Amino acid sequence: MTLHFPFDNTYAALPNGFFARVAPTPVMSPRLVRLNRPLALHLGLDPEWLAGSEGVETLAGKRVPEGADPIAMAYAGHQFGHFVPQLGDGRAILLGEVIDADGVRRDIQLKGSGPTPFSRRGDGRAALGPVLREYIVSEAMAALGIPTTRSLAAVVTGENVVRETLLPGAVLTRVASSHIRVGTFQYFAARSDVAGVRRLADHVIARHYPEVAGAEHPHRALLDVVIARQAGLVARWLLVGFIHGVMNTDNTSVSGETIDYGPCAFMDSYDPATVFSSIDEQGRYAYGNQPRIALWNLTRFAECLLPLLSGDQEKAIAEAQSALGEFADKFDNAYYAGLRRKLGLFTARDDDPKLAGDLLKAMADNEADFTLTFRRLSDAALGPEGDAAVGQLFADPAAFDAWAVRWRQRTSDELQDAPARQAAMRAVNPAFIPRNHRVEAVIEAAVNRNDFTPFEELVTVLAKPYEDQPAFIRYAEPPLPGERVLQTFCGT
Ligand code: AMP
Ligand code: MG
Repeated sequence: MTLHFPFDNTYAALPNGFFARVAPTPVMSPRLVRLNRPLALHLGLDPEWLAGSEGVETLAGKRVPEGADPIAMAYAGHQFGHFVPQLGDGRAILLGEVIDADGVRRDIQLKGSGPTPFSRRGDGRAALGPVLREYIVSEAMAALGIPTTRSLAAVVTGENVVRETLLPGAVLTRVASSHIRVGTFQYFAARSDVAGVRRLADHVIARHYPEVAGAEHPHRALLDVVIARQAGLVARWLLVGFIHGVMNTDNTSVSGETIDYGPCAFMDSYDPATVFSSIDEQGRYAYGNQPRIALWNLTRFAECLLPLLSGDQEKAIAEAQSALGEFADKFDNAYYAGLRRKLGLFTARDDDPKLAGDLLKAMADNEADFTLTFRRLSDAALGPEGDAAVGQLFADPAAFDAWAVRWRQRTSDELQDAPARQAAMRAVNPAFIPRNHRVEAVIEAAVNRNDFTPFEELVTVLAKPYEDQPAFIRYAEPPLPGERVLQTFCGT
């Protein structure tokens, strides 16, 4: 057997308590749904082999590739605010790590590949629908330029999984710069295993943040950089209307990538209170709550690091508080810089947040579509003849017109000309996002009619979110009233 995955595994070399060694469970008759060829090449993998029978068996967990050291990672986590001391990979198995074309270490993980010692009452399996959703949304996020885990492949297993009904089983091959979560730190902290926390922190520094290794206090610097990454990440979610849906600490990656796409969704009309997830009854993870929740999760992370921050508990707490105190500014800076770009402002002025906030308020009051408003505003940068197309999106177009006067006034003071502003805005305001009604329709066609054409088409369109793609203009449209999706369901 030739080496098809050039594995170089470091997590599996950590002490035994960090994971359980477990092989994927073979499945009956795997079939490839989709292989992400560009990503395969980037990872140094052979797409032809992956798409062939041996490759597909590997992607389905039926065959363990040479050099793999399959493990299920241990972690804990706060789920909707309640601490669970042991979660872990209950339906995912890390095959190993490879170094990609940029020199970045990447985990190759099978999600839905059978039970592990962490499965609790679960079957370790994934249904096709959630696998397609994760594939679509994670790849869309990558194309939008947002840090995220990636999807290398989706396969169906040829077996059914039992949910409320029988559903086709599937496996997603997920690629991440690591699968280390805030909950991974909590796992050791909850056991008062300071040596484990230290070992993990040093692994994370070496792997994700080598630049902090030389800092005077590397663990404080680690806390700072994780806070900065998370603040930047959530700002970027808000700027595209993304709602994660289950921002539990076990779904918060310390690398700053978006991870664990469950009942996630993109907002259509702008409303900060938007919630889609069927399991989020209180709206804890509503669109507009995400910055607050990120800080809450980071506070749990800081608590884990306390023993590393100082031998003196009071000093350690003061360090943690000072680090967490930076979150609000870091978030605001990233968010308002992003809003400025969305409005085509090249310079920064003190009253820009107010200008942006007033547009968002008018959008909320008038149920304007978030994505289309900014996309059409990009073209309105050429002149007021573009305003009608934006105003149409508002229940009362006059609400936009009043704001547009102020916006033109503000942009007229800048040096850049209108075409430069339009181009800059089009590069940050996508035309295409994975709209929920489209994602649901794709899943319905695949699961109920074994028709994967809509899935293929949607994935293709979303690969170029900032291009107009006139042939696919329908994918840019918000749902009609009858098409609106009100709830999304978990990946389990
Ligand atoms: P999630 O809601 O996907 O973030 O998962 C939360 C926890 O439940 C993790 O520990 C998962 O591994 C576990 N889990 C979710 N679905 C399953 C399943 N079908 N079988 C076993 N464990 C699962
Ligand atoms: Mg999870």
